[in-house]
Amino acid sequence: MHIFFPSSKKGNRFVISGEELKHLKVRRISPGEELGIIWEEKIYLCRLSEERKREALCEIVGEIETKKPEVEITLYQAVTVDLKTFDMIVQKATELGVVKLVPTITERSFRRREVLLKRMERWRRISKEAMKQSGRPYEMLIEKPTSINSLKPEHELNVILDNFYEGIPVRELKLSGIEKLGIVVGPEGGFSEREGSMLREKGFTSVKLEPHTLRSETAMMVSVGIIVNLAGS
Ligand code: SAH
Repeated sequence: MHIFFPSSKKGNRFVISGEELKHLKVRRISPGEELGIIWEEKIYLCRLSEERKREALCEIVGEIETKKPEVEITLYQAVTVDLKTFDMIVQKATELGVVKLVPTITERSFRRREVLLKRMERWRRISKEAMKQSGRPYEMLIEKPTSINSLKPEHELNVILDNFYEGIPVRELKLSGIEKLGIVVGPEGGFSEREGSMLREKGFTSVKLEPHTLRSETAMMVSVGIIVNLAGS
């Protein structure tokens, strides 16, 4: 089912306009057909009732049940030198249910903060598209780019993914009862030795994925995917 963001709600109806109306027209949804609407962290099942030039109206038919992950993950993702990869990471983190993304500047990451600040609007757009595609009704918070030096182990469980260090395998993470978890993933060139030991000294747990070295985006997806699916079980 196609999902849209409305511009407003009037009684039992949502109004779709602007860019979202363009999407609706491209998808050739015609009056009488069903669609989903994301509104206040819920997804409503709606029926398109009227389509005009500048807006479309749809009526609420019911509510679609959605889930949230059992564990709130904050992802401290080093900004990849290839910014297109980071766009993909934003999309995948949204699909996987990451609650907060902190673009992290490290020694070997993309480092020009002013460029990244300009990119934030684009990340938000990518994330909203991913919400529609994955049926996720709550937004992923995207924080301003932050230096790795200022990270603190502020969650119940704090993980650093480090292929240079003999960390514990992901299956040994004690996830039961954990509600909030932070996870730090390095850029294409990995963390420097200083960064790895600094985070471990601060209390982050090193985790190693087996059996090979993964790309940054792969490591993020695998670790977040495993943790989200194992938490609460
Ligand atoms: N250039 C490095 C690889 C860096 S991989 C090298 O030559 O070894 C990029 C990031 O992905 C790493 O910093 C780490 O956070 C994560 N990563 C990749 N493979 C991993 C693994 N097997 N275990 C844990 N983390 C991994």
